[in-house]
This record gives sequence, structure tokens and C-alpha cells, in this order.
Amino acid sequence: MIIIMRAGATQIQIDNVVKRIEKDGFVAHLSDGSERTIIGLIGDDRPIDRRTYEVMEGVEKSVQVLQPFKLVSRDLQDHDSIVKVRKVEFGGTGIGIIAGPCSVEDRGQLLESAHVVKAAGAHALRGGAFKPRSSPYSFQGLGEEGLQILAEAREQTGLPIVTEIMTPEQLPLISEYADMLQIGARNMQNYELLKTVGRSTLPVLLKRGMMATLEELLMSAEYILAEGNRNVILCERGIRTFEKYTRNTTDINAVPVLKSLTHLPIILDPSHGVGKWNFVTPVALAGIAAGADGLIIEVHPNPEEALSDGGQSLLPERFADLVQKTRAIATTIGRE
Ligand code: PEP
Ligand code: MN
Repeated sequence: MIIIMRAGATQIQIDNVVKRIEKDGFVAHLSDGSERTIIGLIGDDRPIDRRTYEVMEGVEKSVQVLQPFKLVSRDLQDHDSIVKVRKVEFGGTGIGIIAGPCSVEDRGQLLESAHVVKAAGAHALRGGAFKPRSSPYSFQGLGEEGLQILAEAREQTGLPIVTEIMTPEQLPLISEYADMLQIGARNMQNYELLKTVGRSTLPVLLKRGMMATLEELLMSAEYILAEGNRNVILCERGIRTFEKYTRNTTDINAVPVLKSLTHLPIILDPSHGVGKWNFVTPVALAGIAAGADGLIIEVHPNPEEALSDGGQSLLPERFADLVQKTRAIATTIGRE
């Protein structure tokens, strides 16, 4: 349930509603709109009689949120959330671009990648130090050494770093280095991991599971917000379909549909969506045209030698071209 306060409701009236919610055993979630405060009553509110809140001073009305997701819903907050990764904003008027290799392979590869993506206009650097691989015999990532290399790249370029967390136990270590925690497609429904990152103050990049519906993605985001971390960016990264020419099928529909359902920023990962470098740029541009708030792109200085996802990684000059074209589309639709 959400409680909509009257425009001009006093702080005391707002505090009284919050106290009442807490006394009833729920968590109150405040959202300051430009005109009025909206208070979410979080928890199983079925036994609650809405009228007990509606008679309180300063309350305009209460609304039952019918969707299973509440905190991420536009019902609770109509304006777009802006998620800051250090100084980089996602969800405002600008388009945010995260780029870098799939995995941190060695110092030279990562530092070179960082400098080229920065020169091309990226706002943040990606690179996995802990890799979820289909085969236990494939490269699993450099672990802490990879995190140290990422931190060095941040020092040299100023780019904030985004890296994947695979287990709750990794949070203390990864938090020492990362500016944003990535939850991969395979872990989208790892609820213990979601709750753990929900207790962190770091922003979270939550990728859609390869067989997850949009509602399931939003419910996973709800887990993170319910623990107190509101800094979540959603990522469409392609879903499994019967089509075999591409690795996955980028669900462009997801962009405007998610935008209509949630206030959280949405970015697109065309690299995993298509799985082939030559289709990455056109699909990226489609995502921006559809309203995505940003992109995450795999870039490698030498894709043929990559230890993971080389076939879908862009060479630096191709990434620079993607950024130029993204700029053109962004300008056309009134974004920066
Ligand atoms: C990745 O970003 O390299 C990755 C493993 O992505 P996903 O979880 O979407 O497969
Ligand atoms: Mn990858």
C-alpha cells in the first residue's frame, strides 16, 4: 500500500504516518516527489484496513499497489531515479556508457582497455575478476589480483569500476575495490546474494536472467531495495529463444516496458545480447533509440586472444565508432 500525503503536509504529519506504519509492524519507505510525499508501507499489508491511515492528518489517500513489486514501481515513485556511480549519473538526461573487457586477464590488457575506452568516451570501466563460466575448465578470473588491477586502472583513468560479485562472501573483498557491483544473469535469482548487496551502500547493476520475465527481474530488484539499497540499475542482456544465429535475443521491448513499470535506470548489454561483435553496434543504437539510459559494451584490444567472450568484443576503434553513433542518436531524441 502507498500513502499519498497532501501537498503541503507538514513534517510532523509525515512523521506521524511513519510512526504508525512502524507501530503496525511494517517498514515505511519515503519518496519525496516534487509536490508531495509518498510513503510506501512495505510488507504483507493484506490484513491492514486502509481507512485507518486515510483518517490521519495530512493524508490525501491510500492506494493499493496491485503489482507484486512495490519499491521499484512507478506507483511508489513516478519520477526517474538517478543512480550515481561515483560522479557518473545513470537515469538522468544523459546516456551512461560502461565499457571494457569481459574479464580482467592481465595488467597490460586491462590498462590498455581502460585507456582506449576512456579515450573513446566511456564513463565507467567494466571487467570481471570473478567469472561465472559454463565450464569449470574455462578461465575463472584472476580474483583479488584482478580487483587490484581494476583499481590501478581507475587511478590512471579516473573511470569508476564495475565488476561482478558471485557470492555473498565476496562482498567485503569486492567492496574494497569496486564502485558498482554487477550481479550476473546466472545469479539474478540468488536471493541471498541480492539481500547481501541490498545491505551494501554500493550501487548495483542487476542483469536480467537469461530465462527471466520482466516481473521476475523487478522482483529481484525489489529484494535489493527492500534491504535499503535504492541504487539499482537494471540491465537487459538478452534472453534465450529458439534463434541460433545470435547467442541470445536482445529483448528491445524490455526497455520501454521496464521504463513504464519502474523508476530505476535501464541499460542495455548488446554484447551478450547478440554474442557477435558485428551486431553489437546496431543493437546498441536500437536500445538507445528505445529509451535505454545507457550501455554496457565488451571491448578488448585483441579479441582473438581474449580468455572470454572475444567473439563479441569490439576492437577499440569499433567502440569509438559506436560511441559516436550513440551520440548522434542521443542528440536526436533529446538526450546527452
Ligand atoms: C558479463 O558481463 O561478462 C557476464 C557474464 O554477463 P551475463 O551475466 O549477462 O552473462
Ligand atoms: Mn562477458
